[in-house]
Order: sequence, then structure tokens, then C-alpha cells
Amino acid sequence: MSLVAEFHCLSDHDPDALAVDQARAFIRSQLAPLQTRERVALRSALGRVLAGDVIAPFAVPAHDNSAMDGYALRRADLSQVAGTCLRVVGTTWAGKAFAGTVAAGECVRIMTGALLPPDCDTVVMQEVVAVDGDEIIVPPGQRPGQNVRRAGEDLAAGKPALAGGRLIGPAELGLIASLGVAEVSVFRRLRVAFFSTGDELCSIGTPLGDGEVYDSNRYTIFAMLTRMGCEVLDLGVVGDRPALLEEAFRQAAAAADVVITSGGVSVGEADFVRDLMATLGEVLFWKIAMKPGRPMAFGRIRGAGEGAPGAWLFGLPGNPVAVMVAFLQFVRDALYLLMGADPVPGVPLLPAVSAVALKKSPGRTEYQRGVLADGRVRPAGAQGSGILRSMSDANCLIVLEHGRGNIAVGDPVSVQLFDGLL
Ligand code: AMP
Ligand code: MG
Repeated sequence: MSLVAEFHCLSDHDPDALAVDQARAFIRSQLAPLQTRERVALRSALGRVLAGDVIAPFAVPAHDNSAMDGYALRRADLSQVAGTCLRVVGTTWAGKAFAGTVAAGECVRIMTGALLPPDCDTVVMQEVVAVDGDEIIVPPGQRPGQNVRRAGEDLAAGKPALAGGRLIGPAELGLIASLGVAEVSVFRRLRVAFFSTGDELCSIGTPLGDGEVYDSNRYTIFAMLTRMGCEVLDLGVVGDRPALLEEAFRQAAAAADVVITSGGVSVGEADFVRDLMATLGEVLFWKIAMKPGRPMAFGRIRGAGEGAPGAWLFGLPGNPVAVMVAFLQFVRDALYLLMGADPVPGVPLLPAVSAVALKKSPGRTEYQRGVLADGRVRPAGAQGSGILRSMSDANCLIVLEHGRGNIAVGDPVSVQLFDGLL
């Protein structure tokens, strides 16, 4: 079934204003992960997606060891009602096995991470122990087996330590390193081409003409893609002229898996951008019931020749804040899916309380730039969809759901934190 036919089956109400969730679900339903893999050195895997399970070649930790600096002892020696007097027969450090034996009534001074001497099973922390020459008094109330990290308690040998599809962040990098694994198999980077459309746009480095504005969308898009670990291809500013646009679309689709454009998708102006997208592929134009970011195009640009794969297309609106919001709500999700991330890392919706009253019309999802502090959120400043300053001042989006009306002071609201995203 074609994209358009499928879409019409799915959209059972007003196609003029598609709900955010519906658009997101439709986009997801069309996409499948790229499958090409490559092996990379561990550090180069940061931000990439694992193409297969990483199996633990041995248990982690490999041996029982101490979680504390203290004394290793035998649980049978501990009195639960009175202090226990034990003789210290040696010291053991991390990285070296204890050579001696520990008999009843004896203990060993032990450092964090040191292997437990064979006869010992419990560690008492040094702070609670009274030392008297080569003897210690252990107070009652110690739990047998305490302060010991058990062999295999973190990872079992032969079991997946990380599943394929996992996005590799700092914790994953460390975890893989703890297994002694130096190289991993990851999916290849997603190639994303982008350009801005609009006769009024000027690239930085060029003096502004009358009525021109500097192109900022290519910078926010570059930044968001780079953060996601994509390979980016910046095709510059393309004027509102069909021949130029057609050439840019062809070049982008030939070079990339995904093409992102901004501007020219609103109704009534620069209509040929829309027409052109439709000519070059199968593209849906949506009015999404959201603010900011209402117009958007999604679909595929056909490849130039027989067997050429073509590319997915996201035609974002032109307004700078709308670009960022639409990217976060739709494009990010789609790109992670194409990158092979499983599960696709969503942007969590966190509960907060509105510190101010907010105007909201039911029937669309509104995203306000907000500042969240101590569970309370307030708007970050003027909310015009061209105002990047308040995007920069914000640390979250306040998500006012589709059905909601005005928000009163103290009402619960959801927020999406920018941390690590923007
Ligand atoms: P459009 O969607 O093309 O009608 O653009 C909507 C608004 O966004 C207009 O005010 C444009 O000048 C502005 N705009 C479009 N593209 C960009 C861009 N790349 N950088 C900054 N502003 C833009
Ligand atoms: Mg325009």
C-alpha cells in the first residue's frame, strides 16, 4: 500500500489537524532500521547503537571481594550478643590474593576490592572496630555475609551484558570495558542531509541584505543531528526557485538516508516547494495540531536511478523554534529508529507543577519553553515561534496535552527536560 493510502486508512478524523501522537505513530510505522554493521574500537562506539549482544566472557565481579576497607572474618566467629575478639593475621590488598589461611578466631585486614581470603565470608568496616595491638573487637549486630561483593552479582558469565539495539552512552562504554572487550559491532552512522529554503535567508559570513535574515535553522539542525551521532551533510541555503530546489533534493537523496529541510511547507506561500516534494517522491503534508510547528511534510524522495534507495524526507516548518520542537517530537524518534536503537529512547515526560497560569486552547498540543526548578515550572520568556532566545533560556518544554484548556497556578503539567537533548 502506498504511503498516502495507508495514511488515509489511519486518519479517521479531521486530516487538517493531525494529532501529535497520530503523526508520531504513523512515521514510526513506516520506518525500518538500517542494517549495515561495522566493528569499531570501543571509544568510537560512544553514541552509536550496538548491532548485536555483548556477551560477558566471565562473571563480573570475577571473584568475591570486599566492598569496604575493614576486616575479613568468618561468620561462625561472630557473637550476636557481645563483642567478638579476633586476631589479625595479615593484610590483603586489591589486586593480590591473600597467601595465608585464616583459622577460627582470626581475621585479615582487607582493602576495598581485595579478594576475600578463602576461609572468610564477611567484612566488618574498619570504622566500627576497636583495635588493640594485633587484636580487634568487633561489636555485636554484624550481618553474616555483609560488605562482600559476590562473584557474578553484576553480570553472569556467558549471558548478554548488553542487548543489541542499545544506545552506547558513558555507562555502556564502561560496562563493555569492564568485560575487557576492545571492539564492538555497531550499526553504521545514519547519513542526514539538510538544507534551508527561503529567498530571505543569508548564510553567516555574508553581509545581510535588506529584509534578509541569517539562516539559523542549519545550525540548530546540525547541532541536534551531531548530538545524536549522525553523519551530517550541510547543503546550505536554497532559494525559493524550483530548479534549485529540485537539484538540492536530488543531491540530498542521492547522498543521504534522510533529508531534512526547513521552510516552505506552509500553505499558500512557496507552494512549489510542496509541489516539488510531491513530484520527487511520495510525500504527505500535514497540518499537525500543535504549537509551534504546525505544518510539516513527511515521506520519501525517490532515488535517481534504478535501484537507488532514495531517502526519507522531513520537511520542517521555517520558524526556528518550530524546527527544534518538531525535530524533538518527530525527527529524533524516527532517526533513532532508523539507527537501530531498540527500544527507541523516548524523551521522558516528567511531572511538574505550573508556577504561573498558562493560556491553552483545547484541540492541539502546545509546547512552551520553560524553566524547571524544584518541581515548579514557569515559561522561559516570550513564546513566539521565531524567538530562539527563550529556547536558549529554557531547560525544558512544558507539554500541554491535546485536550487541555487553560492551566491555573499550581496545576500539574508535564515537562520534557532538554538535558542532553538540546
Ligand atoms: P516559512 O516556513 O518558509 O514560511 O518560514 C517561516 C518563518 O521562518 C519566516 O519568518 C522565515 O523567514 C523564517 N525562517 C525560515 N527558514 C529560516 C532559517 N533557516 N533560519 C531562520 N529563520 C528562518
Ligand atoms: Mg520560506
